[in-house]
Amino acid sequence: WYANMEVFNMLLQKDYTNTNNYKKFKIDSKNLSWTPDSWRLHPALQQPTFQDARLFQKCIKKLKEASEIVSFAKIQELKNKIASAEKGKSFLFQAGDCAELFKDCTFDRVKLKILELTKQKEILQLGLNKEITLIGRIAGQFAKPRSESYETIENITLPAYRGDIINSSKFTYEARVNNPINLIKSYHKSKKVLNYAQIFNKNSNMYSSHEALLLDYESALTRYDARYNQFYNSSSHFVWVGERTRQINGAHIKYLSGITNPIGIKFSENITTDELIKMVEILNPNQENGKIVLIPRMGHQKISDNLPKFIRSIHKEGFNVTWMSDPMHGNTEKTKKGIKTRSFNKILDELILSLQIHKSENSFLGGMHLETSPDNVTECTGGFQNITEKDLLLNYQTACDPRLNSLQTIEIISHFIKEYVR
Ligand code: PEP
Ligand code: MN
Repeated sequence: WYANMEVFNMLLQKDYTNTNNYKKFKIDSKNLSWTPDSWRLHPALQQPTFQDARLFQKCIKKLKEASEIVSFAKIQELKNKIASAEKGKSFLFQAGDCAELFKDCTFDRVKLKILELTKQKEILQLGLNKEITLIGRIAGQFAKPRSESYETIENITLPAYRGDIINSSKFTYEARVNNPINLIKSYHKSKKVLNYAQIFNKNSNMYSSHEALLLDYESALTRYDARYNQFYNSSSHFVWVGERTRQINGAHIKYLSGITNPIGIKFSENITTDELIKMVEILNPNQENGKIVLIPRMGHQKISDNLPKFIRSIHKEGFNVTWMSDPMHGNTEKTKKGIKTRSFNKILDELILSLQIHKSENSFLGGMHLETSPDNVTECTGGFQNITEKDLLLNYQTACDPRLNSLQTIEIISHFIKEYVR
C-alpha cells in the first residue's frame, strides 16, 4: 500500500476531517475481502422499503458524497478510551434517548441533554474515582428495530414507527409512510447536534453512538482511510448491533466486520456462548484492544442464571472485551392499559447484580448503558418520586422505549456508586 511514497506523503499532508477519501481514492475492490456493500449478499433484517426507489437512490448517492460526520482521529481516540476501560482503568457511561427525534435537535434541547449527561458523568467520576468516558445515544440514534411491524390503537392498524430516519412517530397514515428524505435529514441533524454538543462540552469530551441498523445509511457513510488501508463508519464514533439483528451470518455482522470503529454487541440470554464467541472472532479477528464492548441485557430475573457462563467462556478464550450492563432492555413491560414501562427497582436490580456477578467471577464491569431523558418524564415507574402506573401518562414523551427521568438517573447512579466502592 505504501509502495508509492509520493502518494503516501500526499496522503499524510491531507486534512482528513474534511475530505471524502472514499470517493477520491479509488479502492481496488478486487483485492478486498470486504467492502461497504458486502452485507448485500446476506439476509438483512429490519430494513425498510421505500416506495420511491429513485428518490431513495438519489439520497444514498448524496450520502456517499457527503463529508464525514465524525473524524477517524476521534474514533481512534474513543478506541483508546475503551481500551483503558477494558483494563479497568476507566469506566464507560453510555446514555440517552431510545429514539432521538428530529424535533429535538435544537440548540436548547441539545444543550439540556448535554448538560444533563455531563452532570451524570461527573457524579460517576467523583463516585467511582475513575475517568468516565461519556458515550451519548445521540447525534444519530434515529433508527429503531421493532418486534411488531404494525401498531394497532383503537381498531386502527398502521405500520410501526421505525425511527425518524424512516418515518414519524405520530399515529397517522401519512406519518408512518417511509420517506427517503429522512436519511438526508438524519445526516444533517447528526452534524448539527454534534456541533452544538461541542459548544457545551469544552471540558468534557463526549462521543456519539447509535445502533447500526439501517445498513443503506451506514454503508453510504462508510469511508476509506488510505493511510491505514481501513474503512470506518463516519456517521458515529461508536455503533452497536442490536439483539434483533445480531445473526452470525446476517447482513449486520457482515457490515460491522469491516469497519474499524469500536462496536457494541447487545445480547439477551437467547444467544449461545458459541455464537457470542464466534461473533467476537468475526468482529475482532486481530484481538485489538478497545474494539469490543459486550452489552448483556437479560432482565433482572435472568441475569444471575445466564451472565456467568458468558463471562467464563469469553475469559476462557482470552478475549479482550469491555463488559457493559444495559439494565433497561430486558426489563421492559406493558401495563394492563398497554403502556410500555420499566420499573426502577428492576433496572437497579439488574445493574447491581451485574456488578456483583462480575466481582464473583473475577471479572469487572467496565460500563453502564441507560436510556435517559433530561426531563421530568413519567415513563419508568418507581424511584424517589414513587411514580406509579397511574402516573405514567402525566408526562409520557418517549417515541419508543421508556426512559429514566433526570432524577431517576441520578438515583441509579448513586446506588451504583455505593455498590461499586463497597
Ligand atoms: C435499544 O438499545 O434501543 C435496543 C433496541 O436494544 P436491544 O437491541 O438490546 O433490544
Ligand atoms: Mn430502547
